[in-house]
This record gives sequence, structure tokens and C-alpha cells, in this order.
Amino acid sequence: MTMKIAILPGDGIGPEICAEASKVLDVLRAEGLDVTTAEAPIGGAGYDAAGHPLPDATLALAKSSDAVLMGAVGGPQYDTLPRALRPEQGILGIRKALGLFANLRPALLYPELASASSLKPEVVAGLDILIVRELTGDIYFGQPRGRRTNAAGEVEGFDTMHYAVPEIQRIARVAFEAARKRGGKLCSVDKANVLDTSILWRETVTALAVEYPDVALSHMYVDNAAMQLVRAPKQFDVIVTGNLFGDILSDEASMLAGSIGMLPSASLDANAKGLYEPIHGSAPDIVGRDIANPLATILSLALMFRHTFAREDVARRIEAAVRAALERGMRTADIAQRGDAVVGTRAMGDAVVGALRAA
Ligand code: NAD
Repeated sequence: MTMKIAILPGDGIGPEICAEASKVLDVLRAEGLDVTTAEAPIGGAGYDAAGHPLPDATLALAKSSDAVLMGAVGGPQYDTLPRALRPEQGILGIRKALGLFANLRPALLYPELASASSLKPEVVAGLDILIVRELTGDIYFGQPRGRRTNAAGEVEGFDTMHYAVPEIQRIARVAFEAARKRGGKLCSVDKANVLDTSILWRETVTALAVEYPDVALSHMYVDNAAMQLVRAPKQFDVIVTGNLFGDILSDEASMLAGSIGMLPSASLDANAKGLYEPIHGSAPDIVGRDIANPLATILSLALMFRHTFAREDVARRIEAAVRAALERGMRTADIAQRGDAVVGTRAMGDAVVGALRAA
């Protein structure tokens, strides 16, 4: 069956890093993998091309594809547009239209980069965590919300946190399944000592655990989880949590792994269709200089083969090729330590492609 991939390069360094991921796909295609790709603009590029950050044709392409690879969106030239036309509306719009409720962020520290982390190498060397964050519910979308005047005549702001049982179950299932394929450990993070929503969350995840006897489930309060992530991060395998806690913890975890130029992400729907993107933004400060790190985007491609196409073999080959390039000493500026020879975006992509061909 043909694997249909939509590539949405977006803005800033997006086109540069997507071009390197495309080279990887070219190698796989030349080897006989049945992959087709088509490109469309999103974000500021969508606005420039069609007057909207998520043009109809782009959404149609994303919907008719099996998976989407995205670069990044945003740039100072779009900062003065009205909110509905700002580049980030392209991402929010596509997530919503595709029903992407599960955000997967692996934080993996390659041994070669242990000294690039802000934590001591012995604390983070070998780190391999997967954070599964619910993406479409929680206090970010809860109603009612807004401002009102309280009984004392004071203006107050308010938001509503809520999760329905099916919402908790579907994200927990994604996490249990992921844990089953990894180290078999799942830590559910909540604030059940204070929040009713979290009490329901904990009960629901616990009830589901009987279906996954091969996964060791534990629970942790979010404040403790934030502390444990910097104290002893290697204790974690898979973490599952709601939208708000996941937003914060996944950014914290990403710093453990050194540069944001290394970190991929996946956002999945109920049928494992997904949008794959690096966690970083469009980096307008380095655009067009051949210095952006393309590895987060290439590793996003590996996640695509793992989660959407169920091709663990291809995912591992791409990851091994990235590792091989790092082992050969290839370093873009963001991951270089003193004394390292620095290579550019294209040379790094070529190194991965070379390793892939040699494997
Ligand atoms: P950013 O992630 O773009 O950049 C932060 C810093 O990291 C910059 O110094 C940048 O040069 C560096 N950096 C980022 N990616 C890199 C890479 N692959 N290789 C080397 N260095 C890299 O965040 P920002 O500067 O806060 O935002 C810039 C623009 O990106 C804004 O318009 C913002 O809205 C947008 N943004 C988009 C996304 C997305 O598309 N998902 C996410 C975050 C920010």
C-alpha cells in the first residue's frame, strides 16, 4: 500500500530542514519503499500564497494523506497580522481538523551529546523518556472561561479544567500501548491530592491498567514529577498526563536532552494518522544560513514510520543513521562543544543519508 505523506515546510528554517528529511525519503523510495510526497504551504507561507495560514488546499492535502510532516511556522513579518491570520493558527487549525489528541514527545539523549545537556552527564546519559500529552482537552479548552465580577465587586479571571472518562481512556491507551513496546513502565502524572479532575483521571487510568498486565503503572503528582525529571530522569520510561501538565513537563524534559534541534514530536488521531514535527520553532534568527539542525525533523520522520506506518524497522534504520552521523562526529552549531568541527544543515543531512545507504 502506498504511504502518502504531505510535507508542509512552513516558514523560517522549515523549508531547509524539511529538504533534508526529503532526502531521507528519497533514499528509502529508491530502495523500493512505496512512498509518495506532496508539498503545500502552511503558516506565514500559507498566508503569503493564499491569504490564510491554513489554506483549503493544504488542509485537503493533509486530510487525504496518511501522515503529515511539518517544518515550523512563524516569523516577525507576520507578528502584526490579526490573530485569526497569524501563522500559529495554521497549526492549531490542522490539529483540530485532523482530531490529533495525542502528543508524543520522546526525550532521548544520545551518549555523544551527553555533555550538551544542562544536567550532569551521569544524570542524563542514556536518557530515553516518552511523554504522552493529551492535546485537545483540559483547562486550555474548558468552558466556561473568561472574566467576571465576583461578589466582592472585584474583576476575576477564570478557566475550567475538565476531562471526560473517554478522553482519559483514549490517551491512556496510547500511553499503555507505547509503554508495552518500550520498557514496560508507565507513570501517570496528575494532581489528585488537590483536583477533582485528577482524581477521576487517576481512577480511570488505574481501571484501564487491568487490560495491560504487562505494563507497570505508577502515579505521581505533577510537582513531584517536575522535580524528579531533573533529579533522576532515568527512572521514567513513558509518562502520560493531561494537556496543561504535559505542556510544562514536556518542555522541561526537552531541555534534558540538550538542543531543541534534536527533538521530534508526533501528534496522533484515533487511527494513528499523525502530524510529525520538530519541537522547535521557525528560528528566524538563523534562517537561510545553512546552520539549522535538521535532525529533529529527520527523527520526526522516524516517528512517522513507527506510529503511522507501523514500520519499526524503517524507524530504527533512520534513528541508527542519525546516531551514526553523530558517532562520526558530525555536529551542527547548536550541538557542538568546544573543539568540535561544525557542519551545516545540508552536510548533516548528507551524513544521515550516507549512513542510511551504508546500513
Ligand atoms: P525557536 O524554536 O524558533 O528558536 C529558539 C532558539 O533555538 C533560536 O535561537 C533558534 O535559532 C534556535 N533553534 C531552533 N531550532 C533550531 C534548529 N533546528 N537548529 C539550530 N537552532 C535552532 O523559538 P522562538 O525563537 O521563540 O520562535 C521563533 C518563531 O517560531 C516564532 O514566530 C514562534 O511563534 C514560532 N514557533 C513555532 C513553533 C512551531 O511551528 N511548532 C513552535 C515554537 C515557536
